[in-house]
Amino acid sequence: MAKQQVTGTVPITRIKRCYLDGAVVKAECRKCGAMMSNDLGCNYLSYPDPGNPDESIYLSCDECDAGYELPIAVSNAVITVAFDLDKMVEEL
Ligand SMILES: [Zn+2]
Repeated sequence: MAKQQVTGTVPITRIKRCYLDGAVVKAECRKCGAMMSNDLGCNYLSYPDPGNPDESIYLSCDECDAGYELPIAVSNAVITVAFDLDKMVEEL
């Protein structure tokens, strides 16, 4: 198999503003049933800390002004590098 990939882990504890493009947390408001969302591509995680049990994000309801804290678990980022050994060329 010429096509392979390897993965590596990136520690993210030093990231001041961690934007997660495409990650939107959605939940129903417990008071009025409206759908709330928190777009983590806009509302960044500040110094995310893997393993910290006190990590959380905030959700607010535009309909009734209720606010909620949602505990989250953060993991380090995993980067995947894919390659095809058939494309390897000798450097001259
Ligand atoms: Zn509500």
